[in-house]
Amino acid sequence: MLHSLIVRAMPLVPRPIMRRVASRYIAGETLEQALERVGHFARAGYPGVLDLLGEDVREEREARRALTTYRAAADGIAERSLDCHVSVKPTHFGLNLDSSLALELYAELAAHCRERGVFLRVEMEDHPTTDATLRVFGELHSEHPNVGIVLQSRLLRTTQDIDSLSPEGLDVRMVKGVYIEPEDIAHTEPEPIRAAFVAACERLWERGARVCLATHDQALGARLILSVGKLCKSHEDYEFQVLMGVQEALWERWRTAGHPVRVYVPFGPQWRAYSQRRLSRNPDLLRAVLRNAFR
Ligand SMILES: Cc1cc2nc3c(=O)[nH]c(=O)nc-3n(C[C@H](O)[C@H](O)[C@H](O)COP(=O)(O)OP(=O)(O)OC[C@H]3O[C@@H](n4cnc5c(N)ncnc54)[C@H](O)[C@@H]3O)c2cc1C
Repeated sequence: MLHSLIVRAMPLVPRPIMRRVASRYIAGETLEQALERVGHFARAGYPGVLDLLGEDVREEREARRALTTYRAAADGIAERSLDCHVSVKPTHFGLNLDSSLALELYAELAAHCRERGVFLRVEMEDHPTTDATLRVFGELHSEHPNVGIVLQSRLLRTTQDIDSLSPEGLDVRMVKGVYIEPEDIAHTEPEPIRAAFVAACERLWERGARVCLATHDQALGARLILSVGKLCKSHEDYEFQVLMGVQEALWERWRTAGHPVRVYVPFGPQWRAYSQRRLSRNPDLLRAVLRNAFR
């Protein structure tokens, strides 16, 4: 009830206040601001990931506009010699309009990124998009080695998905999954989601994949570090990935203990609509943001 009250009140929050809260998590509206923020993290010892906020586009031209910004992002990364990936949601490239459009745009961006030495991540969204996303990734990865995927430990299907991905040059960002999914297809309690996360990472390493551990869960991180000790030969095999503005003290602890940590930097003019949508669909996320804001 409190969640739905807060969600209904969100559009009434004045823009400057919303912007102040969001500025902790979002680099700004422009690519220039985002590249500056990536440079700032780089100077502090953290490589980056750039994400243009947006999803579920309704028109092809919106998807093509996103591609133009991502191409410019790859140019900016290369010009500044930054160690930075780009990360794209499939529905931002039109997956829900036509999966062949999404494949075309990803392929164009993958080629552009490859010429500039930039890595491209295909993100994972809610379960109705999983099959199409994995199909697009499968086709893309066979042509473009600089492309990786995201898998969600919340989903029961993830173990089978790991086994059906070609292990050749596989690079996976493992996450819990930000979308609340139905009980018949997903774990719903924290501990099974954590246990599935560790099991999925171990299976991926055993299959020779590189795994990016995208979490701010300290207890889970400790379990993953034990698995890293058992199964990883070098820093080439893994890294932690974290969201800008979330649990900075934990990243610093991981980094000073010798683990690579990469920071995800979202940006874009759609920050307000995007943040409201995410917060309204996930009460845990809203709780986390409010706790951070009042701390
Ligand atoms: C780099 C990166 C990329 C991601 N990409 C995807 C993706 O492609 N698809 C997908 O479904 N999910 C993605 N996620 C989100 C992920 O699935 C989880 O929803 C999110 O990371 C929260 O889970 P957690 O493992 O951090 O653990 P939690 O137990 O949820 O959080 C641990 C601690 O971190 C705090 N925290 C976590 N997230 C936030 C936040 N956003 N704001 C404020 N505090 C927070 C919590 O309060 C808690 O104290 C990504 C996450 C990261 C870090």
